[in-house]
Amino acid sequence: MYKILIIEDEERIARFLELELLHENYEVYKAFDGKRGLELFQLCAFDLILLDIMLPGISGIEVLRKIRQTSSVPVIILTARDSTVDKVFGLDKGADDYITKPFSIEELTARIRAALRKKAESNKINSEDCLSSGDLRLFPQHHLVTYGDVEKIDLTKKEFDLLKMLLLNKNLVLTREKLIEQVWGYDYLGETNVVDVYIRYLRSKIDDVFGKRIIHTIRGVGYVIKDGEIKERTKY
Ligand code: CA
Repeated sequence: MYKILIIEDEERIARFLELELLHENYEVYKAFDGKRGLELFQLCAFDLILLDIMLPGISGIEVLRKIRQTSSVPVIILTARDSTVDKVFGLDKGADDYITKPFSIEELTARIRAALRKKAESNKINSEDCLSSGDLRLFPQHHLVTYGDVEKIDLTKKEFDLLKMLLLNKNLVLTREKLIEQVWGYDYLGETNVVDVYIRYLRSKIDDVFGKRIIHTIRGVGYVIKDGEIKERTKY
C-alpha cells in the first residue's frame, strides 16, 4: 500500500484529503505544520507527499527544500488559486506537480497516480548513473546504496555523502580535511575525527556485514576505496 503524507495547516482540508485517500486505499499520515511534516518525513519512507505551500512557521517551500536535500520522493504542492509565483517557485525547487485550490478529488487522485507511476518508471534504475566498486553500488540520484543482491543498505545522509565522495574519487586517497570540506562543508567547526567516526559507521554497515574490506585506511593520510581490489577482509 502506498504511503502518503499530507502537510496542510487547514485541518478541515487535511481531514477531507485523508478520508478521500483512505477510500482510495492509500495509507495516510498528516501533519498540520511544516515542522511536524519534516519530523514524519524523517521517520517514515513515504511514496508521495502532498504539501501545502502556505504554511505557518516553516513555509512549504522551505519544507520542500529540506525534503529535496535527502529524497526524491514525489511531492505535489497545493497552491492558492492564481498564485503563479508559488507554482513556478515550487516546481523550480523540486516539486513534481502542483494543484490549485479548490480542486476536485478526482483531479488530485489522477495526479497522485501519475506521480506514482512516473516515480516507478524512474526507479527502473539506469546502471549508467551509478558509482561502484566491486559489488557495491551507489545511485546518487536515488539516495540508494546496494551490495550484490542486497537491494538497499540504509545510510544516513552524511554516511551516504561520505561514501559517494570516496567512490567519486576511487583509487585516490582522500585526507580527513578534504573529506570534511566536501561532506561537512567549509564552515564545519567540530573535531576532525568526525571522519573516522563516520568511516566506522560505514564499515559497520557495509564491510562488516558483507565481510569485505571496501574502505581502506592509509595510515597518517586518510581513506580510499579502490577499484576491483575488494578482498576478503582480514583486519584493518
Ligand atoms: Ca495553508
